[in-house]
Amino acid sequence: MGLLDGKTGLIFGVANKRSIAWAIAQALSREGMRLAFTYQGERLKDGVDSLANTLPDSLVLPCDVTNDAEIDSVFASVDKELGRLDALLHSVAFAPREDLENDFVNTSREGFKTAHDISAYSLVALTRAALPLFEKSGGGSVCALTYYGAEKAVEGYNLMGVAKASLEACVRYLAANLGPRNVRVNAISAGPVNTLAARGIKGFTSMLHHHAERAPLRRNVELEEIGNAGLFLLSPMSSSITGEIMFVDSGYNIVGL
Ligand code: NAP
Repeated sequence: MGLLDGKTGLIFGVANKRSIAWAIAQALSREGMRLAFTYQGERLKDGVDSLANTLPDSLVLPCDVTNDAEIDSVFASVDKELGRLDALLHSVAFAPREDLENDFVNTSREGFKTAHDISAYSLVALTRAALPLFEKSGGGSVCALTYYGAEKAVEGYNLMGVAKASLEACVRYLAANLGPRNVRVNAISAGPVNTLAARGIKGFTSMLHHHAERAPLRRNVELEEIGNAGLFLLSPMSSSITGEIMFVDSGYNIVGL
């Protein structure tokens, strides 16, 4: 018997086997949750299909989170195929490369809008679309992914840090708004991991070295550890936790000098 037998989840943000979303999906599936995945654009379809096919009874659907019609269509398919929803994972972020690389003061208006739309507003849009399905399950749990650069100015993180600050505020406001409907909303603030998205951050390799040197545990986090934290937040194990930003970063954030 798995902890999550009979429960269902929807996963946004698998690009490949190094994606944080895939680590969390594997942990959820290990405990018996049935999963649906989305991918953005045809170029990712085959990769996501072949990963999803390694899990029992999974579903794969297209969705660009900036497109309301695609969001509606994903939730209609999940309703039809799964009939309920217990967990929603938001593991999606984007900012134009030039806005990450330029001096922060030169951030473009368009880049600012795009980064906030994809990386923060999408959490609100997806959670709203999930509500009727959560209702069928008697409640639900939402988990997003964030980074320390939302709280502190981290060199090279720039516009993405501002978008993550917005995402973290969305987590708290959604949690306050939806708690009475038994919907919980939390985020994991993960230490740096070498993924596709991370490669867009200038100086990412030195960020990894710095974290491993300074963090109390003297190492970087493993994908599997973020997977297990996601399992905790998306399962009834965390039933009285909502609106929280949970660090999974080898303790890096607690260190001063
Ligand atoms: P990843 O594997 O590249 O995942 C990012 C995902 O976001 C990709 O699947 C990407 O698809 C998707 N995405 C971007 N724009 C989208 C859109 N308009 N619609 C739908 N999906 C879209 O990288 P990751 O590191 O696992 O990132 C997952 C989350 O963790 C992000 O929120 C990231 O900020 C956060 N995070 C990462 C780290 C780290 O060090 N890696 C640390 C803390 C937090 P495309 O490939 O098509 O763009």
